[in-house]
Amino acid sequence: MMDTNIERALAVAFYVPLVVAMVLETIAPRRAAIRSTAWRWLNTAGLAVINTLLARAAAFLTTLVAIVEIDRAGWGLLNQIALPGPVAFGVGILLLDFASYLKHRAFHAWPVLWQMHSVHHSDTDMDVATSLRHHPADYLLDTLMTVGIVLVLGLTVETVFAYQLLALVLNSFRHGNIRLPDKLERRVRLVLVTPDLHRVHHSSVERETNSNFGVLCPWWDRMLGTYVAQPAHGHEAMDLGLEYFRAPAENTIFRMLTQPLRQMKARKVALDSSGKQGQEQGPVVRLDA
Ligand SMILES: [Zn+2]
Ligand SMILES: [Zn+2]
Repeated sequence: MMDTNIERALAVAFYVPLVVAMVLETIAPRRAAIRSTAWRWLNTAGLAVINTLLARAAAFLTTLVAIVEIDRAGWGLLNQIALPGPVAFGVGILLLDFASYLKHRAFHAWPVLWQMHSVHHSDTDMDVATSLRHHPADYLLDTLMTVGIVLVLGLTVETVFAYQLLALVLNSFRHGNIRLPDKLERRVRLVLVTPDLHRVHHSSVERETNSNFGVLCPWWDRMLGTYVAQPAHGHEAMDLGLEYFRAPAENTIFRMLTQPLRQMKARKVALDSSGKQGQEQGPVVRLDA
């Protein structure tokens, strides 16, 4: 069983920012919703419950167990270098954030991973509910990759736990439909991924979807040329979501759960009929008939 203190800290890091972000969305919304918020929330909550039951709890437990074992065994990069505790902690957080950036890029670059991850991107609105919208397979794959990263880097339990807490807190804010005052937004984005920065990542313009992959810090995007400061059509007018999943029915639990499978089929049919390699991302035919 997971330690009750850890469970409590994770619950606080999840629920408090979620509620605060919901309040901020109500007080200072960035955009008007284009679909019924209640309907989206209801279906996304259903997906979140399935995720919690089937994937997230089990996956996080597995990660934790693996990390404890790695920590004990002294494997990994950082365990080979004698760094003072606080330095190792800081370096560990930064390395994990950089690895999370690379992992997120992998989810966009490889078709099978993208088909899972695209459920998160098929939301045509973006608010706190979007932060809960993930396919269970996306969670499982993500966790397996995290275990691999922790193994290679040799991070301590404290480092991984602190990072998970920070990522949970920021996840609600990053997806919030929140209008921050301009001056504050410009300052915050120097260090953290703001709602405006992450909204660019949820744009339906492909160049913008494949930008701003950062989880905590936008520095990796800036360093590796994937940083896009603002959407081409502006935050109010830009289209969110994916070109091929725009039908309102795509926000129901069943359609969200079957989106990866339908993309796989569509891609296979298109590749078979063309007899050549399709584009690297997404299906090669429209799916919202
Ligand atoms: Zn993404
Ligand atoms: Zn997102």
